[in-house]
Amino acid sequence: MPLPRPTTPHQETAEGPYTATHRAHRPKVTELERKVAKPSRPAYSDHFRALRNATYHLTVFPLAAWTRKKIDRIRRSFLWKGEENANGGHCLVNWPTVARPKELGGLGVPDLDKFGRALRLRWLWLEWTDSSRPWSGTDVPCNRENRLLFQASTLITIGDGNKARFWTDAWLDGEAPMNLAPNLFLMVARKGRSVRQELQSNNWVNRLRNRINTAEQVEEFISLWLRIQTVQLQEGVNDSITWRWTANGSYTTRSAYRIQFKGAYSAFSSNLIWKADTENKCKVFMWILIKEKILTADNLQKRRWPCHEHCVLCNGPLETAVHLCFNCGFAKAVWNQVFTWEGINTDLLQM
Ligand SMILES: [Zn+2]
Repeated sequence: MPLPRPTTPHQETAEGPYTATHRAHRPKVTELERKVAKPSRPAYSDHFRALRNATYHLTVFPLAAWTRKKIDRIRRSFLWKGEENANGGHCLVNWPTVARPKELGGLGVPDLDKFGRALRLRWLWLEWTDSSRPWSGTDVPCNRENRLLFQASTLITIGDGNKARFWTDAWLDGEAPMNLAPNLFLMVARKGRSVRQELQSNNWVNRLRNRINTAEQVEEFISLWLRIQTVQLQEGVNDSITWRWTANGSYTTRSAYRIQFKGAYSAFSSNLIWKADTENKCKVFMWILIKEKILTADNLQKRRWPCHEHCVLCNGPLETAVHLCFNCGFAKAVWNQVFTWEGINTDLLQM
């Protein structure tokens, strides 16, 4: 009797390897597709509720590239066309810009990769702060990139040294020894030992003895040794952790998400749009206008769509967003009227 063929855990499908992650996300992707494809267009709130449900999975499963692309395609199509299939021509602003926070010039749609990473840092935070969790002590679903972000986001204060990991936690003047001495870190076999274990009898020195050969290794060793001389363990005091990005020193998903945009900036004051007392569709239009992406003749020409080149209101120069909304004689007349209603000095229009 022939033996049954072993089933492989990774089956290839049209969308890529069929893995546990695939199985976990497939129902949510299908749900999103179904909601967007409904004959009656879903309300924005429905759409985002479906999206929020999908993102709960990100706490455990990092998104496979195909899943993120698929969900982003659904979201992009819904945003620009309200339907399932939008092509590049329908999308007025590129997706990376849309997926930035509003105060950084975006539309505030969550970036799924960054959002998932922010959610998964909670495992590392709870691993440190709440050892009563049932899963405490087991492997948490965080990869090296997640751990590096966590390390850069936290500050360890050493007590008895039992909790903090010697090489990988940021306990030495706010820095992790693995970053202060990367060449030495490569030589260490057991990288997860605690500060206490490594400082006792200078264990960390003994492990490196007779293995330091290069000038870089000697320099790193001396520098690290000098720093460690100032460390005093405090018996009976637990090591503690502080989250760098909140005032109270505790992790929040929001702060973990925002910090991943560090260094980004907005070229305009977004509060003028998003805090305005008006309907959301007007705010979104103003956002597209400021990006100079509304479908005026200059943008139609870039897409090679047939258009009337000149402003049809004044038969003046090339129709651009700035001309149509501010410089055109007709636009100025409208602004003049609005300023008069609001009692604002109309001389501002001449500026
Ligand atoms: Zn005009």
